[in-house]
Amino acid sequence: MNVLRIAVALLAALLVYGSVAAADDVLTQAAEGVYRYAPGDGYISMFIVTKDGVIAIESVNTTHAQGLLKAIQGVTDKRVYYLLHSHNHWDHASGGQVFREAGASIVAHAEAYEWMKANPHPDMVLPSEAWVGKQRDIKFGGTTVEMHYMGSSHGYGMTVFRLPKEKIVYIADLVTPNRVLFSIVPDFNIPGFLESLKRIEAMDFYRAIYSHSAAKEPFGTKADVTLMREYVEDLQGAVVAEFKKGTSWKDVPHAVKLPKYQHWAMYDEWLPLNVWRIMLDMHMGPFPWRPKYVD
Ligand SMILES: [Zn+2]
Repeated sequence: MNVLRIAVALLAALLVYGSVAAADDVLTQAAEGVYRYAPGDGYISMFIVTKDGVIAIESVNTTHAQGLLKAIQGVTDKRVYYLLHSHNHWDHASGGQVFREAGASIVAHAEAYEWMKANPHPDMVLPSEAWVGKQRDIKFGGTTVEMHYMGSSHGYGMTVFRLPKEKIVYIADLVTPNRVLFSIVPDFNIPGFLESLKRIEAMDFYRAIYSHSAAKEPFGTKADVTLMREYVEDLQGAVVAEFKKGTSWKDVPHAVKLPKYQHWAMYDEWLPLNVWRIMLDMHMGPFPWRPKYVD
């Protein structure tokens, strides 16, 4: 492609979209005051600049958190008041100290808090606030952030964030656009996972920011959530179909093919691992499982 053609293509994109945003842009604006932070370390955060201060979501680890704080300070001189965690896992909930030192209150669901207390990590600090129940809203600086507890789905205290005015959601780990399920599908309760995807599908939003994404565009839509649910259901259907054919259980993971998702990242590498996990879940019963969180 020559320079002129690139310029024409860019101009056309500008005319259609107003700006050219790519998935590998470190900072992308999703709406007035709402930003996606993707430094290329495989983890994506979000922050909201309100008239009174900043709300940040997902600190990941110290290096990521320092970059996130710097990105925030690049667009506003307002202080960060809240750091919100999506769930308990070390690889998402570390780096909180950076925001604590910046004066932020760290918030997580009580179930995540309990796990974090019981399973310390050198880069993870305990939240300052643990909330209970199915939903809690943060109303701050003219912005509302709804925190929806997803129950037994992935990890503990799994929370999906929704901005009702902007109609934007932040989803960690439950949906990764254009990629099969992560490796051996660790710490997913499959029926609860499907239930959480249906709940997200019922939410009102037009744009999604995902903690991980293999898509070309920085923002996703509800279609990604629906596709993820269909992928899990197709995996279950394919396992049943192999059993009906009489395929030996140990051959099932390499017998299952799902051409609909062939273009997704890690299809060749992880599809058999995904099948193992789904098959064992159907054979042994859902795991991990716990009694419903009592508030
Ligand atoms: Zn996780």
